[in-house]
Amino acid sequence: MSKLAVDGGQPVRTKAFPEWPIYGELEERLLLEVLHSGKWGGTGRVKLEELEQKFAAYQDAKYAVTVVNGTVGISVALQAAGVQPGDEVIMPPYTFIATASAALLFGAIPVFVDIEPDTLLLDPERVEAAITPRTKAIIAVHIAGAPCRLDRLKEIAAKHNIRLIEDAAQAVGAQWNGTGVGAIGDLGTFSFQSSKNLNSGEGGMILTNDQALADMAWSIANVGRVRGGAWYQHEHIGWNYRMTEFQAAILLGQMTRLDEQVARRERNGLLLTEMLGQIDGIVPLQRAPEITRHAYHLYMFKLAPEVADRLDKNDVIAKLSAEGIPTSYGYVPLNKNEAVLSEIRKWTGEDRTFSCPVSERASDKEVIWLTQNMLLGDESDLEDIANAVRKVMASY
Ligand SMILES: *Cc1c(COP(=O)(O)O)cnc(C)c1O
Repeated sequence: MSKLAVDGGQPVRTKAFPEWPIYGELEERLLLEVLHSGKWGGTGRVKLEELEQKFAAYQDAKYAVTVVNGTVGISVALQAAGVQPGDEVIMPPYTFIATASAALLFGAIPVFVDIEPDTLLLDPERVEAAITPRTKAIIAVHIAGAPCRLDRLKEIAAKHNIRLIEDAAQAVGAQWNGTGVGAIGDLGTFSFQSSKNLNSGEGGMILTNDQALADMAWSIANVGRVRGGAWYQHEHIGWNYRMTEFQAAILLGQMTRLDEQVARRERNGLLLTEMLGQIDGIVPLQRAPEITRHAYHLYMFKLAPEVADRLDKNDVIAKLSAEGIPTSYGYVPLNKNEAVLSEIRKWTGEDRTFSCPVSERASDKEVIWLTQNMLLGDESDLEDIANAVRKVMASY
């Protein structure tokens, strides 16, 4: 066995992985067009109009509303869906904190329901048991870019007359049974924050196939105005959550690169799963056959349970890093986040606890992440990743 780089051995890799973001003259030209147009904000709406149409079409949705970021997108989608302060919103705890803080922004109460161990996605079979008369919505978070079990979740939402919202922040380009995610539920939201697979620095989008929901979301994000109404006609309480023309310009440029990047991540993600699956002590995640396209915003893999029990995940991460493979520890489940729990206490006056052993074990012991840019190179990058993982695992 070769000597580990942490012990002074030769690292598997010394090259950097592909850089992110990727841009060129097109983005430069589109940004200058906005600059010279003098229409910079979110009411001029030249590029924004084009972006909403193109992005909705890309995700197979009818209506799109651009907003300042993904967090606000979730909050607006919940409010457009009729969720009120005090209402409960079911969501997984193994997600970015924004899924929960978007609800808490207006006093809606997160209820954490555990994930499936083999996919790390919201477990539909646990959702039904968590529904109470106060439950008004389910947020299906397509974590890492893998769509949740949308057929089952839609069925449950319909049966209980509650709304299904997709947090598709990580899932630009993902498809469920051949249809783009985002408008398969009642509403879906995306993020264009710097790390995301479609990036304008900051930004967000809400998609839906329901015109009334689209109009309501638009109104909430446009200071309560109504489409086609007068400038000072505010029929709801809303805020200025508008995206700018500059962001739309960058996104239109980035969208021309999307097909190629989505295809490359998908191909490399599948290849990496094949390679990691052959390594002792590693378990790749399962993928439902209905996931006809995975967005691979993150590539997550697991240490086998018996291995995870006797070693420290942080030690694996440190050894991989020394071998030239940057990885991440990932989320701490939100049911264990004191800020989230105390905000729930603030709104409900109750100390709520949630039992989510699968999420906790995934975080504490088993799951390690790679970032999307690492899937934008060629097969030799994947071989380096697999070789480093094999070398490190053999050391235990
Ligand atoms: C990035 C992200 C968000 C929040 O998006 P912002 O644009 O950063 O506000 C919400 N949910 C998930 C799952 C995310 O990854």
